[in-house]
Amino acid sequence: MAKRFDWIQKELKNLKQKGLYNNIRTLGSAQGAWLMVDGRKVLNFCSNNYLGLANHPRLVEAAKKALDDFGVGPGAVRTIAGTMDIHKELERRVANFKHSEAAITFQSGFTANLATIPALVGKQDMIFSDELNHASIIDGCRLSGAKIERYNHCDPLHLELVLKENEGNYRRALIVTDGVFSMDGDVAPLDRLYEIANAYDILLMVDDAHGEGVLGKGGRGIVDHFDLHGKVDIEIGTFSKAFGVVGGMVSGNANVVEWLTQRGRPFLFSSAVTPPDVAACIGAIDVLEESTELVDTLWANGDYFKKEMAALGFDIGKSQTPITPVMLGEAKLAQDFSKALFERGIFATSIGYPTVPQGKARIRVMISAAHSKDDLDKSLEEFAAVGKELGVI
Ligand SMILES: *Cc1c(COP(=O)(O)O)cnc(C)c1O
Repeated sequence: MAKRFDWIQKELKNLKQKGLYNNIRTLGSAQGAWLMVDGRKVLNFCSNNYLGLANHPRLVEAAKKALDDFGVGPGAVRTIAGTMDIHKELERRVANFKHSEAAITFQSGFTANLATIPALVGKQDMIFSDELNHASIIDGCRLSGAKIERYNHCDPLHLELVLKENEGNYRRALIVTDGVFSMDGDVAPLDRLYEIANAYDILLMVDDAHGEGVLGKGGRGIVDHFDLHGKVDIEIGTFSKAFGVVGGMVSGNANVVEWLTQRGRPFLFSSAVTPPDVAACIGAIDVLEESTELVDTLWANGDYFKKEMAALGFDIGKSQTPITPVMLGEAKLAQDFSKALFERGIFATSIGYPTVPQGKARIRVMISAAHSKDDLDKSLEEFAAVGKELGVI
């Protein structure tokens, strides 16, 4: 084999030796409470399909109809000839759903961050970023060329300290945070961050990928949860988690949204999501606007599971959302736990360093409205059995 790939072989081997290689399981079925994984039927606690919309008949129907009406592709980037009336409709529906001034959509939550941050700040500017922010926020910050200051996780007092230290050192500034932090399920103190951003007159941005469809009235997200309508300049979201489809969104201040149509590079230089995707996203908003039932079920399921796991004696961290981290400590234990669960028909992956700090390995249980009470009881039974087997409880 050619020598120029030797380093890749070496690095891959290294990852495998350290137990850090991503072994990717293949699904042979649609997303749902139950999955076919590597040929066996297992109960799913890994996906971000919080509301069970990924395979919802209403969304599937909407996508099929759009396929007939608009075909499979958008045909060009949106500024040239790739904006269809359903793309515009989705943006109106997002703004209306979230009670925001305006909204714009992107190919994914990841690209929404890459589009937004560099459009707002540059080399003469500063970004104040929560130390546990998502990779796509970090990449967007780096791409902007702005100076990045990290503040302690969910700590407004520390943010203020860092801001004071840097007063006068920048042209413009941006405070950026995840809404719900996906590894612990904790929620950013957005009300406090707003007070600070407002006092210093700097931009405030929240990436609510895990709060979209989960927090707020009927899943309207973190801005609604804190009743900060019209106060948070930029709310990033994704259609790929609770909404069950794919795509990203930015809602908030109308100036910012208009600016992104002119300077958001993934908007200008990459095609939009396909018509069936867009129609399915609109279908998700239809379902959420009609009833809060799915969101209510998600929270009831999460509360039940967390209460029972704590009663069994597991350490389930400090989650404020249905995300349930089962804290195990060492990566090896978390991996063994996950394997034992899988043998018992429970699919819940272990998460270790560098996604979470050393010594804080865990199994992250993703609860969904799609789970029945029986599903939750079966998983509790298996968690208890494995927990005893491995001496965790
Ligand atoms: C998942 C996630 C994203 C990426 O969303 P996609 O639509 O899957 O690209 C961005 N930000 C945060 C905080 C996320 O959790």
